[in-house]
Amino acid sequence: MFRKLASLHFGKQMKKTEDLVIAIDGHSSGGKSTFAKAIAEKLGLTYVDSGAMYRAVALYVLENELIIDDRIRKEELVKQLGRIEIKIGFNDQKKIYETWLNGRNIEDVIRGVEVSKWASTVSAIPEVRTAMVNLQRKISENRGVVMDGRDIGTVVFPRADIKIFLTANPDIRAQRRYDEMIEKGLPASYEEVLENIMLRDHQDSTREASPLTRADDAVDLDNSEMTVEKQMEWFERLLESKKQENL
Ligand code: C5P
Repeated sequence: MFRKLASLHFGKQMKKTEDLVIAIDGHSSGGKSTFAKAIAEKLGLTYVDSGAMYRAVALYVLENELIIDDRIRKEELVKQLGRIEIKIGFNDQKKIYETWLNGRNIEDVIRGVEVSKWASTVSAIPEVRTAMVNLQRKISENRGVVMDGRDIGTVVFPRADIKIFLTANPDIRAQRRYDEMIEKGLPASYEEVLENIMLRDHQDSTREASPLTRADDAVDLDNSEMTVEKQMEWFERLLESKKQENL
C-alpha cells in the first residue's frame, strides 16, 4: 500500500518515500532485522544490517590471529582496518542483502555464537566504530534506507525521518534466536544463546563508545507479544501519524 505513495511530507520539505531514512535500534535478537526488512520491502527501501558489519570485523579477527588469550590485539586490528573491505550485495535469487568480506560472501558464517560474541567486543573499539559508521553513511548516500543496529538513531543518522527503539523480553529474544539458529542448522543450546544475549546487552549498554541508548525522539515498540504482521500494522499507523504531524 505504501509503495504506491509517491511522496510524504516530512519536516518542511516534501520527501519522497524512496528517500526516507528509517533507524531501528534495540537490544540483540529483538527482531530488528525481520521488522526492518519488512518495512524496507513495503516501502521499497534498501535494508542495511549494520550489525553484520561488526560481525564481519569479528570474523576477520577470528581468521587472522588477532585474538590472544581470549583478548583482541586491538592495536594490530586498528592497523589492519584498511585491509578489511566490507560490502553489502543484493542477492537477486534469494531477494536478500548479503554481507561480503574481502570479496567473499560471509552471510552463512557470521550468525553463530562465537562471531556474535566477538562482534560485541570489536564494536566497543572506537576506531572500528568510526570505520563502520563511515561505511554505513556511505552505503546510504543518495538513497532511502532502513538500517538497524544500536546507534543508528543516535550517531549514524541523528536526523533520520523515523526512529524506532525496539524492545522485547530477554527470554523471548533468546527463544527466537535459538529457533532461528536451529532453522539455519547452526549448533545451538538455548542456555548458551540466552547467556550470549545477556552478555551482549550488558556490553552494548555499558561500553564507552556509542553505547546502546534510545534517541530522545525515538518511538518505542515492545514486540514481545507481537507477530511481524502486528508490528507492520503498528508501523503503518506510525507512518500515517508522522505524515499528519508534518503536513
Ligand atoms: O545486530 P547484531 O546482533 O547482528 O550485531 C552484532 C553486534 O554488533 C552487537 O552485539 C553489537 O555489539 C554490535 N553492533 C553495534 N552497533 C550497531 C550494530 C551492531 O555495536 N549499529
